[in-house]
Amino acid sequence: FGVLYVVATAIGDDEDLSARAKATLQAVSLIAAEDTRDAGRLLRELGISTPTMAVHEHNEADRVPVLIERLQAGESLALISDAGTPLISDPGYRLVAAAHEAGIRVSPVPGACAAIAALSAAGLASDRFHFEGFLSAKAGPREARLNALAQTPHSLIFYEAPHRIIDTLTAMGQVFGAARLATLARELTKTFETMKRAPLAELLAWVEADSNQQRGEMVIVVAGAPALAVADEHRISAEALLTILVRELP
Ligand code: SAM
Repeated sequence: FGVLYVVATAIGDDEDLSARAKATLQAVSLIAAEDTRDAGRLLRELGISTPTMAVHEHNEADRVPVLIERLQAGESLALISDAGTPLISDPGYRLVAAAHEAGIRVSPVPGACAAIAALSAAGLASDRFHFEGFLSAKAGPREARLNALAQTPHSLIFYEAPHRIIDTLTAMGQVFGAARLATLARELTKTFETMKRAPLAELLAWVEADSNQQRGEMVIVVAGAPALAVADEHRISAEALLTILVRELP
């Protein structure tokens, strides 16, 4: 069997594509790419002529059997997405799972990931974190999800589209509280890279005041729920327990 390499590409600065990623893209017989035009541009820059095949959200299920067959025939393949690490808010899960099920070796060629890059520089607790990815574009489900995360004690990582940043920061301020610390990591590794760490209300005001902050690619890292809020919840359940005990005990 061949090997399926899951190859990270850059998230802005092409220099972040590793030497091993380049060698792998050169060595494999086919590159499964989210967008073959983007991939073509990258491969031209790298001087690589490996053929590509489009594997995206809409055709992944159909492509998987074809790709597994080629792997079983002994060809090694690489999987890339438009930017950063495949499968992280990007396609590829079906292919990787099917490869494991078929007994094919899957090997990561790690590199840039916007979530990890943002967390590493956010100045918020990084010992434990929750990656949420994109919230729903619809207000109802988005708020329901934020509510479900409101008591999570770990840093929360969100991906967001620039045209929704104001709505999302507003909703976060309402649900998590205006004072909760957050970091907006924008255009990482690119010319206009910006990192801003502030309480949610201040962060929102800062983004509203400068339309440049409403452009480009962005990650929001939000501090976890303060220990007191979590303790408060436990106190409620302790009180409830006490009431039951008082009622039930002889
Ligand atoms: N697979 C990618 C990764 O490893 O980060 C993420 C793909 S997801 C479709 C694209 C989202 O990632 C963007 O909307 C943005 O939230 C985030 N992102 C990607 N590149 C970024 C960058 N240079 N700076 C900030 N956020 C970025």
